[in-house]
Amino acid sequence: MALRSSLIKFRKEFKLKEHSITITRRIVQIIAFFMINYVILELIFAINLLAIENLFKVVPFLHSPRNSLSGGAGFLEYIFFSLGEGIFPFFLLGILILIIIFSNRIVCGWICPIGTIQDGCAAIGVKKRKTLKKETHEKLLKLKYVPIIFLSLLFVSLAISKLFDPNIYTVFKESLNFEPIFSGDRPLGLFSLSEFLFYTLPNQIKTSWETGSILPFFSNFFLLLVYIFYFGILIGSIWYPRIYCRYICPFGAVATALNKYSLLKLSRSPVKCVGRTECGKCETACPKQIRILDEPFEFFNGKGECDFCLKCKETCPYKAINIKFG
Ligand code: SF4
Ligand code: SF4
Repeated sequence: MALRSSLIKFRKEFKLKEHSITITRRIVQIIAFFMINYVILELIFAINLLAIENLFKVVPFLHSPRNSLSGGAGFLEYIFFSLGEGIFPFFLLGILILIIIFSNRIVCGWICPIGTIQDGCAAIGVKKRKTLKKETHEKLLKLKYVPIIFLSLLFVSLAISKLFDPNIYTVFKESLNFEPIFSGDRPLGLFSLSEFLFYTLPNQIKTSWETGSILPFFSNFFLLLVYIFYFGILIGSIWYPRIYCRYICPFGAVATALNKYSLLKLSRSPVKCVGRTECGKCETACPKQIRILDEPFEFFNGKGECDFCLKCKETCPYKAINIKFG
């Protein structure tokens, strides 16, 4: 009897059913995090997981760019590497388009390890969450197109240099490695938070550990700026959830542009929804600051920003938000 009443109390306090989507999402995120970065498991448990390498090799976006077992790139990086080699990445772009058409931005909301880390940061400040002014937020959303346009131009130029002069191409490609600050043999380190979190930072910690000094962190002024910038983003995401996804992530820019065409959507029932004045809980819960109630009832996606975390659906007290396909 006592056990039963404790269980009832537990269920009342933790409202498991009400949070079932978030709980499921967190489990998926944690599993995905370790699948993508299984080198972390090797470090923690001193085991060798080389045998499972081929399981993930076929799906490049499941690789952390700097997983020591990976071929050396994440999904977007493979696309840019192909472009730089003068090969148009039909296959990878095709996969990317199909993933987003059929699954919306589930990859961003449920799988991406950078998203998981930001969600972890946001959980610290859940009671102190802030929102930016609508105009400021909308202006900043456009920022994330700057890195993707810059990278596209950079890698198309690299491909053109290959076509006209192999010597210029070699020097150009080597200059993109940012050696010795980043990985040396793999370009794009400067533009990648995952590079920073899963390669640069662990290597710096390892060096500091081995030398017993924190000086390696201050060995290069440029690197220090990169640390300040990326740590700033992580700290910022305590108050502004998914700040990197919203305003910086190059993959986010591509996903936002494609998300408008996704078949998997969210809709809001005009009969059940009581509106912003009476309720508005979905908008308060949305980590991407999407003005759900300004969008049509038929479907909403925050102009492509929605990453399908389903927090709005879970929070709605009137069960007004539904998933639809087609
Ligand atoms: S939480 Fe539900 S009822 Fe409330 S405003 Fe949002 S959709 Fe409407
Ligand atoms: S609109 Fe809903 S599903 Fe989309 S990001 Fe916001 S809370 Fe998540």
